[in-house]
This record gives sequence, structure tokens and C-alpha cells, in this order.
Amino acid sequence: MLFETTLKKVVDKLWGRHLHAKQRFVPPFICCSGQLTNTRIRNLHRTVECISCFDEVTLNKVLRAPCKHNYCSSCLAALVNQSIKDESCFPVRCCKKKVPTTRILKHLEDQDIKRNLSAKMHEYATPQSQRLYCPTKSCTTFLGAASSFRFQSVRCPACHKATCKWCRRPMHKGSPCAEDEATQELRRTAKSEGWQTCPGCKAVVQRLSGCNSIVCRCGVNFCYLCGMKMSKCRHGQCLRVNAR
Ligand SMILES: [Zn+2]
Ligand SMILES: [Zn+2]
Ligand SMILES: [Zn+2]
Ligand SMILES: [Zn+2]
Ligand SMILES: [Zn+2]
Ligand SMILES: [Zn+2]
Repeated sequence: MLFETTLKKVVDKLWGRHLHAKQRFVPPFICCSGQLTNTRIRNLHRTVECISCFDEVTLNKVLRAPCKHNYCSSCLAALVNQSIKDESCFPVRCCKKKVPTTRILKHLEDQDIKRNLSAKMHEYATPQSQRLYCPTKSCTTFLGAASSFRFQSVRCPACHKATCKWCRRPMHKGSPCAEDEATQELRRTAKSEGWQTCPGCKAVVQRLSGCNSIVCRCGVNFCYLCGMKMSKCRHGQCLRVNAR
């Protein structure tokens, strides 16, 4: 079967000749001894409006969201880039309806965005507490779910440095994870008392009363209810936390 673009050229040519001959009916176009339906030929020429930039785009180039809105490839790429940067925008939605990521992947033309999107799909499908990242500051590649690795040492596919899956720090061969007995004891107490851990410096923080938005000594602003950075938490900025 011919490629769509080649097909369009052929159809244009035949259509031109056909008009020239002033025939009354569209002749059937044959390719590989199969007759092309008029609908398929019409669809090659049909354009629809992109809901985002209002450009007219040919039907075979748009992604149609479940809400029936159409997106041109550059507007789709912009949406995808946003969802890659901000987990609350993932998966891509239009009119509050999720657009299946597998369908988006089929439509994207840019190979880099495609690769980033499938990587993020994997990352976001992993529970937050399980996500293991490369601790190298210039890298921070998502490595996978901590529990999915059989061995303590996990090698980063990007920078090739090894990470300890237990303490999430650079691999320390032959020595135990850096946390001492006192810190481990404190963490056990924190867990039973419901104290929170700062997502930035991992310090245990006990809040007696006040609002859930906490600024740690390391400068990280996090939510006392869920222990996530304020920018990622869905609790809103100011909920009262009752004194214990
Ligand atoms: Zn557009
Ligand atoms: Zn929509
Ligand atoms: Zn790395
Ligand atoms: Zn360790
Ligand atoms: Zn901190
Ligand atoms: Zn929260």
C-alpha cells in the first residue's frame, strides 16, 4: 500500500485529470488491486481545527482526545512536556478526561519527547516511596522501584555510578549504610508517633500544632500530612494539624 503522502500526490494528479476530462463521477482509485474508498481519499484532504492553536490540520495528523477535541502535533508535544515536568499534569487530560499515554506515544513525532514520556510513564507508575533516583547531583536519573532490585548496588544507566538501594546514597562497599543506631531508633519512634520526615534532608520533624506547611531548617517547604514537598502535595497550603 502506498504511503499517505504519496497517495495524496497520486490522488491529486488523478483528480486534476478527472476534472480536466469533466467526468461526472469520481473514478475509483486502484492501488495494489484494492479500490480506495472515497472516504479514505476525502480524509486525506479533510482538515480539522486544533483546539489549542486553532490551526487547520489534516485529519491524519491530529490526535483526537476522548472528549473529541483535536490536537496538532506541536500542541500535543507542549502538553506532553508539561506533564513530564509536573506529575499533577500526568497523564495528559483534556476536559478532565485522560488521554491514554500509549495513544499519545503513537502520535508523537519527536523521538526525544517520546523517550522522555515513556520513561516518565514508568516513573509515575511507581509509588513515590519506592522510587529510587541516582544520587549524583548532575544526574538524578530515575532508576526504578527500590524493591525491584535484587542487589543492594544499583547501577545508573546514565552516569554508570552505583547507588545503595537501602540508603539511596552512593554505593558504600563493605561498610554499613551511614545511618547510625541512634538515627534508626529515632526513625522508629517517629514512625510510631506519626512524626514526619523532611523530603529534602531526611531530618525527623515533630510538629506540635500549626499548619501543615512546614519549612525545614534545610529550606525545603513540605507538607506535614503527607511528607511531600509542598509543590507536589495535594492537601492545599493551610490545614490545621492538631496538637498531639
Ligand atoms: Zn495546535
Ligand atoms: Zn477536551
Ligand atoms: Zn546517574
Ligand atoms: Zn546504603
Ligand atoms: Zn530538611
Ligand atoms: Zn500533603
